[in-house]
Amino acid sequence: MNMIPTNEIDLVKASSSKINDVDFNNLQFGRIFTDHMLVCNYKDGKWQKPQIMPYQPMTLEPSARVLHYGQAIFEGMKAYKDDDGKIFMFRPDQNFARLNKSATRLAMPEFPKNYFINGLETLITLENEWIKPGKGNSLYLRPFIVATEPAIAASPAEEYSFMIICSPAKAYYTDPVRVLFAEKYSRSADGGVGYAKAAGNYAAQFYPTRLAQEKGFQQIIWTDASSHDYLEEAGTMNIFFRIGNKLITAPNNDRILDGVTRKSIIQIAEDLGIDCEVRRVSVSEIKAAAKDGSLKEVFGAGTAAVVSPISAFSHAEEVFEISGSEDSYASIFKDHLLNIQHNISEDKHGWRHKVC
Ligand SMILES: *Cc1c(COP(=O)(O)O)cnc(C)c1O
Repeated sequence: MNMIPTNEIDLVKASSSKINDVDFNNLQFGRIFTDHMLVCNYKDGKWQKPQIMPYQPMTLEPSARVLHYGQAIFEGMKAYKDDDGKIFMFRPDQNFARLNKSATRLAMPEFPKNYFINGLETLITLENEWIKPGKGNSLYLRPFIVATEPAIAASPAEEYSFMIICSPAKAYYTDPVRVLFAEKYSRSADGGVGYAKAAGNYAAQFYPTRLAQEKGFQQIIWTDASSHDYLEEAGTMNIFFRIGNKLITAPNNDRILDGVTRKSIIQIAEDLGIDCEVRRVSVSEIKAAAKDGSLKEVFGAGTAAVVSPISAFSHAEEVFEISGSEDSYASIFKDHLLNIQHNISEDKHGWRHKVC
């Protein structure tokens, strides 16, 4: 192993690459990781110098606080390559801001911006070969922070690890999904942690989602916890409804994750002159629109799948099919976003962040 110290980040390169063992045509999401990872530890009241090292297991004491009290947060973002081999991230400032919003809510120290951006840039540049050109191909980036301090008192840790791991992702077509509108379980509550990308939010969804799957629905659309009358978001995606030619999505609040894809779609809708209302969406309104035929589309929006069309929903044992159309808003937004991300179209809002 050769050690290349840089000013800000220590670098230990992997002695060989795993890349030749990877079948890039058959990638399952989040299963394969690149040769390197970034680690930055917090102790003695400050973030230490970040290190890039070969991807490897980490050691934790069994008393590490994250294992007992779930003090863990994450981000999800991607790097894209254009046909000239240039690499870009998409709005990483948004992920940075959200990481620290999550950190604050989980009583964790904020992470410094230069470490976040330089860390990502250095790691992505090193993993250049893992990013394939072609619309939809990308390198999925997973920054996260966990409480590593060995102590089982139920209080915030004084030691943490920030890490970034990278997983190659393929352009994938997502089959339309069938969803259940939540009637009993809730994802988040007023005053809770729904707006944070906190690990526990996802664990808590697995059981109700499994029950939904047993009934033939792949995902749940979460409703507000107090009345279950208003539609909020999916498990890892925000949600949009199209009634007639109007787009509707729920406003952000402390129960809903402030998605980068969602806010980008709202802006693109404005750019394209598509009417988009940000307001509460009731279950009864959507059922009525499905019955009278004015509900044209429902789709999820998030970094992983970009947009994910929904073909049917169920509520109170009634199932509603959504026909979908050729010139769907979902495909317009997906194309528009991918063209910006892959440096194919003009980037009028400055969302592309060039890496190398
Ligand atoms: C990550 C996530 C989203 C989507 O956010 P993006 O920034 O668009 O990827 C939406 N809802 C939840 C619950 C999420 O965890």
